Formats: sequence, C-alpha cells, structure tokens
Amino acid sequence: MDNCIFCKIANHEIPGKIIYEDDICMAFLDLSQTTDGHTLVIPKNHYAHILEVDNQTLAHMMEVVQKVALQLQNQLHAKGFNIITNMNEVAGQTVHHFHIHIIPRYNRDDGFQ
Ligand code: 5GP
Ligand code: ZN
Repeated sequence: MDNCIFCKIANHEIPGKIIYEDDICMAFLDLSQTTDGHTLVIPKNHYAHILEVDNQTLAHMMEVVQKVALQLQNQLHAKGFNIITNMNEVAGQTVHHFHIHIIPRYNRDDGFQ
C-alpha cells in the first residue's frame, strides 16, 4: 500500500525499533511508548483491520504476541499487559494497517487506563 507507514516499516523503507521479525509479521516499539516497552505486532502484508486478515496470519500473529509478551515480562519485568487492537476511527484506530498493541503494565497508576 502506497503511503502506509507500517508497510514502509515492514519493507524496511523507514526505520523502526524492530524486536521480532519473520516472513509473516514483525514486532516493533510504538513511537508513543504509552508504557515502557509498548510494542506493535503487524502483518507484513497490508490489511486495514482485524476483520480483513486471514485466519492463518492472525493465528501466527497471536503466537508472536505471546512470545513478545514473555520477552517483555522477562526483560522489563512487566507485571501484566493490555493486549488490544483498535478497529476503525470510531474505536481510535489512527494507522489503517492492522496492528496489535502489547502494552506492558507495571503499576496500577502507570498512566494507561
Ligand atoms: P492506533 O491508534 O491506530 O491503534 O495505533 C497506532 C499506533 O502507531 C500509535 O500508538 C502510534 O504511536 C503508533 N505510530 C504511528 N506512527 C508510527 C511510526 O512511524 N512508528 C512507530 N514505531 N509507531 C507509530
Ligand atoms: Zn500497510
């Protein structure tokens, strides 16, 4: 997709702090760092949101979400996670390339509701 920022990160056309990559998907740090280690998992192919992605890709991405969360738990000592995807503007989606947020939680008052 032309002009899709996450396609550009997936194709290594612009830099991202990549923490995991394979043929199907990639995990990289979110610019905003809602909490320390806030990570996005994206498919390399362009799908606008969760209802567009095929089952095989989605299942693989969830395995990667689990792997990355385990890594964040071990390395950053996260105490828990919010794992979410926003679909369409009405739900807060701002980048229209499917992505799953992994937001590590450390304390009840760490700034993310
Ligand atoms: P959404 O609001 O669509 O669920 O989430 C989009 C996320 O992408 C936001 O948390 C935002 O900080 C992140 N983001 C937007 N542009 C970039 C970028 O160029 N690089 C990275 N690493 N994250 C981005
Ligand atoms: Zn894209």
